[in-house]
Amino acid sequence: MVYTVKLEKNNTTWRIICDNFDIRNIIHEDMPQFGNTLMTKFATNTDKFWTVVPLDLGNCMYAKHNYIGGSPSSIFVFIMLADAWGQYGEATSDVPKLVSFIPEDYNTDDQDSKAFLDEKRKFSYKCPTCKTMSWFDPMKDKKVIFQLPEGIDTPKCSICMVNDVEVYSGGCGHTQLCQECTKRMKIQIT
Ligand SMILES: [Zn+2]
Ligand SMILES: [Zn+2]
Repeated sequence: MVYTVKLEKNNTTWRIICDNFDIRNIIHEDMPQFGNTLMTKFATNTDKFWTVVPLDLGNCMYAKHNYIGGSPSSIFVFIMLADAWGQYGEATSDVPKLVSFIPEDYNTDDQDSKAFLDEKRKFSYKCPTCKTMSWFDPMKDKKVIFQLPEGIDTPKCSICMVNDVEVYSGGCGHTQLCQECTKRMKIQIT
């Protein structure tokens, strides 16, 4: 579902497009401050650029723009809700989606967020089973299937067929790869 909001500023109509959240609840003609912040930033950063706009209640809005690819005044946004950072488990984490939403080669005015995403990006890959963008943290995610009932062997990685399955895919929850193979599958997100 794609939600679009149109805003007017300096005789230009801007379209703000979001497909993970109904932003009509956040930005609309009566309450344009978030939209205004976005439009102001993107009016002065006209090339490949992304930024973060804080919303109420710890939520925030990641926004990107590419004049080359889109119509001149389209801004694409991804809403990160305060509870979607993985603190309640990988199943409710939107971090992998955020990582794939933000292109690696864009500029930003938020170096802290960029550092965070770059760290996650290092371990992002596309799940071979369901093609979802996923990620793993080698320090944290070595767990999962390791409470198998007695007498059942730990399954082997479905790619190398040698190592034990070690990786819990944050994005989709599949477990079928070892760490080595997962790192090899790391893809460049554009
Ligand atoms: Zn999967
Ligand atoms: Zn393997």
